Amino acid sequence: MKPTDKIYVAGHSGLVGGAVVRVLTSRGFSNLLTRSRSEVDLRDQQAVRDLFADEKPELVILAAAKVGGIKANFDAPVEFLVENLQIQNNVIRAAHEAGARKLLFLGSSCIYPKFAPQPIPESALLSGSLEPTNEAYAIAKIAGIKLCQAFSREYDANFISVMSTNLYGPGDDFDLETSHVLAALLRKAHEAKMSGAGEMIVWGTGTPRREFLHVDDLAAAVLFLLEQYNSSEIINVGCGEDISIRELAELICEVVGFRGELRWDRSKPDGTPRKLLDISRIKNLGWKPTIALRDGIARFYEWFLDNYVQSMVSLR
Ligand code: GDP
Repeated sequence: MKPTDKIYVAGHSGLVGGAVVRVLTSRGFSNLLTRSRSEVDLRDQQAVRDLFADEKPELVILAAAKVGGIKANFDAPVEFLVENLQIQNNVIRAAHEAGARKLLFLGSSCIYPKFAPQPIPESALLSGSLEPTNEAYAIAKIAGIKLCQAFSREYDANFISVMSTNLYGPGDDFDLETSHVLAALLRKAHEAKMSGAGEMIVWGTGTPRREFLHVDDLAAAVLFLLEQYNSSEIINVGCGEDISIRELAELICEVVGFRGELRWDRSKPDGTPRKLLDISRIKNLGWKPTIALRDGIARFYEWFLDNYVQSMVSLR
């Protein structure tokens, strides 16, 4: 890859796309192509075709997707299925038609079966039934993987698919209805501390286990794979360790400084019992995560105070 390569980051204003733009910029890539949602609606096939025909990016990072936590996924399966299929079908096909040299498609650990072996190897794909709370999103992502593999087989395209574990970091969603657990609990702990509340509500039983990767580590992995990985076989990216939701809640309360009780809302779903990725494939290539969970949460809390809380204050 050359610093002047034209790289299209689809979804640059999201959690992953934002981190990818930061890492590319810091490593001297100066020819980035980005378009806001109001400029190009990626669900619109013609708009996407026109963008690729006009701009002809050499490399494409497909980080645009409709994403959300357990509740959003469960409540809106139609939108999660249709919009993700539209975005990925349009971008992957247009990238091929415009002659892109390489495309990196971002998937997620929820593509694996609910009761996959732990840690989950890439070979577990399509070996069992999915977790119902995020089945629509998972089916769309699996279709995206299969489309990239089909382009590789039929047209010899260098389209790779990267499966990331649960992410957190700057640019995360803090809306409690749609967010993922880490951002939700960070916000809840902060608000409970500020209001002097005696307790904070956490969903489910606290027993599910999840693996959390700071999005800056994922972005570094994306660049690493863009430079080094040219196989149509999917590849996992995670930190290699998981933690129960109870332990996560306790860790967040410690970092934030909230000393009240946790109250478990068991009317909310737990989702899949465990989701830890086997990251041997990427580790063997020479990549490893660098941000430990406690440090990552502390950094993320600082970002939250400087950005999210500040923006709330200025709205008042
Ligand atoms: P998942 O990894 O697809 O299940 O997505 P989430 O990040 O939304 O949820 C992970 C786990 O955290 C589930 O077991 C949730 O029930 C649990 N959880 C606990 N409190 C919360 C919360 O306030 N918000 C969310 N989104 N999940 C929570």
